[in-house]
Amino acid sequence: MLDMWHNLLSGTPWQDILSAKEIPGLPPLPDGWTVETLLLVVIGVPAALLLLHFVRVILIYLYGRKYRALRALNRACEFDNGIKTRYEYKVRLNSRKQLERYDFERFFLDEYGRNPHAFGAILESASNNDKKYRRYKAEVEQLLGVKPGEAVRVRFFDPLQVKICKRHLRKPITSPVFHCTAEYTSPKGKNHYSRTADYTVKQMEGVAKQYRKNVDFQASKAYQRSLMTDSLRYDIMKRDNFRCVLCGRTAREGVKLHVDHIVPVAKGGLTVPDNLRTLCDQCNLGKSDKYDPHGAN
Ligand SMILES: [Zn+2]
Repeated sequence: MLDMWHNLLSGTPWQDILSAKEIPGLPPLPDGWTVETLLLVVIGVPAALLLLHFVRVILIYLYGRKYRALRALNRACEFDNGIKTRYEYKVRLNSRKQLERYDFERFFLDEYGRNPHAFGAILESASNNDKKYRRYKAEVEQLLGVKPGEAVRVRFFDPLQVKICKRHLRKPITSPVFHCTAEYTSPKGKNHYSRTADYTVKQMEGVAKQYRKNVDFQASKAYQRSLMTDSLRYDIMKRDNFRCVLCGRTAREGVKLHVDHIVPVAKGGLTVPDNLRTLCDQCNLGKSDKYDPHGAN
C-alpha cells in the first residue's frame, strides 16, 4: 500500500516534500522521521480512531442489546402524539377597565363549554401520557441503569451504547399549557395593553369539573321543573285550602292561584311539597327567583 503510494508520488515535487527530514522554521523531527511519518501520526491516527468509533456505533445500532431492547420498548409504548405542548387563545377587549377585570377562569370555562369533547380528549391524552411516561421512565432506568434526563458518566462499561440509547428516548407531551392573552389597544393604536394567563392541565381539570357541575345543575333544574305536574299542583292547592298562603284570597275573590317554589329552582330548590306553596298572582308578582330565607316569601 505504501509502495503504491510512493510510486504514485515518484517524480513529483511531493516526493521531495514528504521525504524531507526537517521542516524549515520548525524544531527538528525525531530521529528517523520524515514529513510523511509526521503526517501519518497527525492525520492517520485520529482518522483510525474515528473509523473505530463509527464501527462501534454501527455495531451498537445493529447488535447492541440495550439499544435493541430500547427500540422494542419504544415501539411498545403507545403515547398519544395528537396533542400540542401549548394551546394559544387571544381575546380583544374594548377598554382598559374590561382588561383589568378580565376573568380568565370564566374565559376557560366558556371555551371548555364550546367544545367539551375536544378539551376532554386533550386532558385525557395528557393524563394517559403522564401515566405511561412514568412506567416508561422506570423501565428505561432499569434497562440503562440511568434515569432519563440524567447525564451519562463515561466509564469503560458500555457508555457509548447508553449514550446512543439516550438519544432515542421518547418524550411524550404530558403537560400541555393553555395560554390566553387578553388585550386592549387604545383608539388609533397608540397604546397596547395585555394580560396573560397560563393554565396547567390540573387547572383545566378544575375548569372541566366546574363545567360538569354547571351542566349537572342545568340538568337538575330542568328535571325539577319537569316534576311539577298538574296532579302535584292540585295536591298543593288542596293542602293550602285553595287559598293564597300570604294574603288568604281564593279564586272566587278574583285572583289567580299559582303553585310557587319557596326556594326557587334556579337557586337549587326542589319540587317537593315542603318547598311548594300556593300563591295568588299578585303576591307572586315580581317574586320570580327571589328568595329571602328570613323574609315572608
Ligand atoms: Zn296573595
